[in-house]
Amino acid sequence: MSEKSKNFIEQIIEGDIQKGKHGGAVRTRFPPEPNGYLHIGHAKAICLNFGVANDYNGTTNLRFDDTNPATEEEHYVESIKKDIQWLGYDWDDRLYFASDYFQQLYDYGMQLVEQGDAYVDDSSSEEIAAQKGTVTTPGINSPYRERTIEENRDLFQRMKNGEFEEGSRVLRARIDMAHPNMNMRDPLIYRIKNVPHHQSGDTWHIYPMYDFAHPVSDSIENITHSLCTLEFENHRPIYDWFLEKLGTFPSRQIEFARLNVNYTITSKRKLRRLVEECFVDGWDDPRMPTLSGMRRRGFTPASIRQFAGKVGVAKRDNVIDISLLEHCLRDDLNAKANRMMAILHPLKVVITNYPEDKVEWMEAENNPENEAAGIRKMPFSRELYIEREDFMEDPPKKYFRMTPGKHVRLKHGYILFCEKAIKDENGEVVEVHCTYAPDSKSGEDTSGIKVRGTLHYVEATHARQVEVRLYDRLFNVPIPDENPDVDYTTHINPESRKVLTEVMVEPELANAQPGEIFQFFRKGYFILDPDSTDEHLIFNQAVALRDSWAK
Ligand code: ATP
Ligand code: MG
Ligand code: MG
Repeated sequence: MSEKSKNFIEQIIEGDIQKGKHGGAVRTRFPPEPNGYLHIGHAKAICLNFGVANDYNGTTNLRFDDTNPATEEEHYVESIKKDIQWLGYDWDDRLYFASDYFQQLYDYGMQLVEQGDAYVDDSSSEEIAAQKGTVTTPGINSPYRERTIEENRDLFQRMKNGEFEEGSRVLRARIDMAHPNMNMRDPLIYRIKNVPHHQSGDTWHIYPMYDFAHPVSDSIENITHSLCTLEFENHRPIYDWFLEKLGTFPSRQIEFARLNVNYTITSKRKLRRLVEECFVDGWDDPRMPTLSGMRRRGFTPASIRQFAGKVGVAKRDNVIDISLLEHCLRDDLNAKANRMMAILHPLKVVITNYPEDKVEWMEAENNPENEAAGIRKMPFSRELYIEREDFMEDPPKKYFRMTPGKHVRLKHGYILFCEKAIKDENGEVVEVHCTYAPDSKSGEDTSGIKVRGTLHYVEATHARQVEVRLYDRLFNVPIPDENPDVDYTTHINPESRKVLTEVMVEPELANAQPGEIFQFFRKGYFILDPDSTDEHLIFNQAVALRDSWAK
């Protein structure tokens, strides 16, 4: 276990183990509905479920919660599996589909009918809604509530056989229409849907409701601790009611707060709209909080796991600052990513006293945080690129970059003295002329020149021109969906992606592999995008270097 104090879920589990409940076994499950891609909120649930199982020698099932035939698609199943594995978790041979339980679920539904705990109701959905009453007034019984067991058995069977039209009948639990918890006022168990299912085809004409399918699936799998988000807290009585009436394995539901992250959205439905209405390029657009988008953006599994751990588990909903996520990424990459030179907005520098055809190969350490990363060679010659923002003709005080009449050091290079700016007819600086101090080479500097600033550069004749995509927050307000009367898409940040096409990088980056992540010196962390070709390299900015997260 970590050094952290135990969270309330760990405390519950440890209490259960001490009491010898379920023989001390811990079995959790992660139950995604295959109707979209996993996002950072799901990552929290994955880390939690697999994490506590690992900590207590337990197991975790991956169960596709695919009981709703209308919204599910096969390819989501594959993407979900891939994302869980990428995060670093493994369900081994414990892969299940709730749809595999359709027959068992039906049998349990029939058991409730036989016990007098469920009835077939011919009321319309509007009538049922009206029967439910309100939070302050009790509901009223359905006119079909007192049907005999024989009649219910017959009708439920015929619902199953597809004899009735969609919406004409439902199976309901017979509980209490005056129950203070609205979810207990004779909730629906089954509805008729003449829709084929992605796993079971057109075998079924009735489909179980979530509030029935979920506890029963947990129970079938002998799940000991069923962790779910807070919005299900007032569904717990119905969860317990079904398992008690059926007398099956007593799985226990425990709720924790959903993970919300500011400046983004963690709802599959809302993310799907961004994809379908082309606000982003797809589920794996690097601006998306999906795991596939974050992977493409340059997030590492370790950084996401670290984030999930730092967020912890809470009993009350809250919004986590996205800068914590970025902090976790920097923390991970600082040790892992090799440093490279890239000039995002190139400005040509000519060293007038450097020999015309000479090229020197400077030794550059790949990662000062990790000696094992080794060194590489970087060219240096008479013509270089520096960042446009690293030169100013009339700088303010305390400007330690390049300016006429001053010295500046180049990292893995020499000290330059800036002579003058060359301008075009519009007065724009197109080139800067410098001289260099031949005895000031990095690592063997005997010049004695005192310099305050160090710049990076890319040698011009060996430079590769590449594309860089800079990303900013997807939304320009902290909680885009805070006001239900305002469409959250109106808050999309129009500057969330900037494409730079004239970026110059050092030749070593021609060897970059898709998915490889680098620190571009002084700029941030960048990953090679899978859209790249040998001729056209594209780097996505994962995160800038500056860390605004207060430790
Ligand atoms: P969404 O609202 O994004 O569609 P969902 O809960 O409907 O999410 P599921 O596929 O049912 O999506 O989620 C699978 C599991 O992930 C559930 O146990 C759910 O509680 C958990 N989960 C989903 N979103 C979050 C979140 N933001 N924070 C923590 N857990 C989450
Ligand atoms: Mg769900
Ligand atoms: Mg949902």
